[in-house]
Amino acid sequence: MFSPDADRFHEECGVVGVYGHPEAANLAYLALYALQHRGQESAGIVSSRGDALISHRGLGLVADIFHPDIIRRLVGTAAIGHNRYATHGETVLKNAQPLVVEYQGGALAVAHNGNLVNAVELRERLEATGSIFQSTSDTEVVIHLIAQASGPALVDRVVSALAEVRGAYSLVFLSKDELIVARDPLGFRPLVLGRVKDAWVAVSETCALDLINATYVREVEPGEVIVIGSEGMRSFHPFPPVRPRRCVFEYVYFARPDSRVFGRTVYQVRRELGRQLARETHVQADVVTPVPDSGVPAAIGYAEQSGIPYQLGLIRNHYVGRTFIEPTDSIRHFGVRVKLNAMPEILEGQRVVVVDDSLVRGTTSQKIVTMLRNAGAKEVHMRICSPPTISPCYYGIDTPTREELVGASQSVEEICRFIGADSLGYLSESGLYAFLDGGERDFCDACFTERYPTPISAGQEPRQLQLFDAAASAA
Ligand code: AMP
Repeated sequence: MFSPDADRFHEECGVVGVYGHPEAANLAYLALYALQHRGQESAGIVSSRGDALISHRGLGLVADIFHPDIIRRLVGTAAIGHNRYATHGETVLKNAQPLVVEYQGGALAVAHNGNLVNAVELRERLEATGSIFQSTSDTEVVIHLIAQASGPALVDRVVSALAEVRGAYSLVFLSKDELIVARDPLGFRPLVLGRVKDAWVAVSETCALDLINATYVREVEPGEVIVIGSEGMRSFHPFPPVRPRRCVFEYVYFARPDSRVFGRTVYQVRRELGRQLARETHVQADVVTPVPDSGVPAAIGYAEQSGIPYQLGLIRNHYVGRTFIEPTDSIRHFGVRVKLNAMPEILEGQRVVVVDDSLVRGTTSQKIVTMLRNAGAKEVHMRICSPPTISPCYYGIDTPTREELVGASQSVEEICRFIGADSLGYLSESGLYAFLDGGERDFCDACFTERYPTPISAGQEPRQLQLFDAAASAA
């Protein structure tokens, strides 16, 4: 197995595709805005004006990258967009998406959420036969496979390319006259279809549909490829059906609580998980407080179930990025303090249950426990609304290496000592599935169980980028 830490292919993202709307780029912009939580490193939109594609990509947040004059230049009735969440601080414009190329079939843009697990070996093969890569992104592998494929229509080439890749993909492709949407057969990452009047939209999460006033149509099905063009919408299922393995971590942490993901509202799932957590890890206490924002719905559920009052003992500064986005360890530690502040008025002399969604390295929990004690908490009981994170994700969630995952090497008692809490309780694996139809059979939970639903290609670590944009190297 290659080390995900060195795997520059790793990324998690939000995508959008729009077809048949006079302000396609504007809708894409708004959708990306709503999906900002899925990626804050870079964003891009490519529109089709009918005879050509027009693209704009930048580093940073959606609202900083797209100004009204740029949106106005992205003319056309179809567009795709992408938010990127790269790991390990490799913020280079070359890896920003959508990727845009000109190949034999014309101009083509693609935006990808997910991570391919055989990209390294495919890239080696492609390079051996002369392919030249612009980026270190696994998505570019798909582009090369499309360029080398044959077939009368773009969708034929897309299908033959996707038949070669393994792993997680929710993809949107844009040619000058078609939008193609595809989701891998296991359906790891979310992708839904909606309509704005006659226009079609595909977005990672339904919160983006809400912002653009689109009506929800349905999930793009695992293994489905959809072509939307002047002849309307056509759906294909070109790959043999398999039992889907949707990412359970989308429910635990990643998706926005107001989104409907995999057919359920994320908020409700988290709240139910919080109730279950209370059943499994009850403790005598005076107050339940979430680690905001990720622990809020679970803490509400915990308080409801346990009857312990819910209070905001920790207040979050919303203008600070997520902890993991910070590129170095020292800044990451600093980030926890900058991001959260404890309320002595709530905590003084109290036995506190503090609820978070997951515990990864344990450093966040450690800081929080200290913070709560410094604010006067008499007891601190940490409750984690998922099982211990024991193995890295290869399908597009940013988890550190196994060595850095405290749950991989330490017992619950050891972790409890490490974070300095009076007690530590995790949600059980069966508790995680108590409310999810199909249970663990329908979900990928490799981060909690090490049961990877696909083989992960062994192989050499992908090389690091050796060509940089001046803007990126200055950043
Ligand atoms: P740690 O200090 O590594 O234990 O961080 C745990 C915190 O990180 C929890 O508050 C989670 O909400 C959050 N978290 C978990 N997974 C991720 C992820 N993939 N990206 C960013 N934050 C995460």
